Amino acid sequence: MTAPQAKILVIEDDPQIRRFLAAALEAHGYALDMAATGTEGLRLATLRLPDIVIVDLGLPDISGLEVIERLRAWYTRAIVVLSARSQEADKVAALDRGADDYLSKPFGVGELLARLRVAQRHVATRLGEEPQARIEIGALAIDLAARRVQRDGIDIHLTPIEYKLLTILARHRGKVMTHRQLLREVWGATHVESPHYLRIYLRALRHKIEPDPARPRYLLTEVGVGYRLADVLP
Ligand code: CA
Repeated sequence: MTAPQAKILVIEDDPQIRRFLAAALEAHGYALDMAATGTEGLRLATLRLPDIVIVDLGLPDISGLEVIERLRAWYTRAIVVLSARSQEADKVAALDRGADDYLSKPFGVGELLARLRVAQRHVATRLGEEPQARIEIGALAIDLAARRVQRDGIDIHLTPIEYKLLTILARHRGKVMTHRQLLREVWGATHVESPHYLRIYLRALRHKIEPDPARPRYLLTEVGVGYRLADVLP
């Protein structure tokens, strides 16, 4: 899925990264607005109504986390976060506040474009513009209408919790889900502090759907953040 003419707002104070983003995004047909501070970014967001906001976590005036929080009060489209090594811990906080995904600096053009595509598709799904009854990733097929999971055309039998976990990841495929988000969606708000539940079911799920559970290709671990179901297989 390409999104020609999609409008992107970049909120980033580092001129080098702004130049890199401008070159990469304009070359791929995106229309760009740039802001060097959080305040200016919030002003431009209301003015320009971008399809995607790319926001750096370390801004000179207000923090990127605060920008996300204030945006999410009204903004329903995609938010992708840029984080430097020193802000790694804030990635989880950003996702929990409603960012769709993140890029860790330094990142390449290919990764940037892939993340933007996933974030946009995720927004379309969230807004109900792209209802999907069947999801295929490599040899894995998830039929949400028939509640059926297959790999290479062979049925895989999942427990209700395994199925729930897989379908949540599948609906957000390509997008990282934090431990808290998964725990809340599968087990409910009372279990967000029980990450061991997740580890146990993730391991079981890998044994059922991965050709080689020790080297997962579908269910990917994002260290310190959460899990991601692959969008496409390499
Ligand atoms: Ca910065």
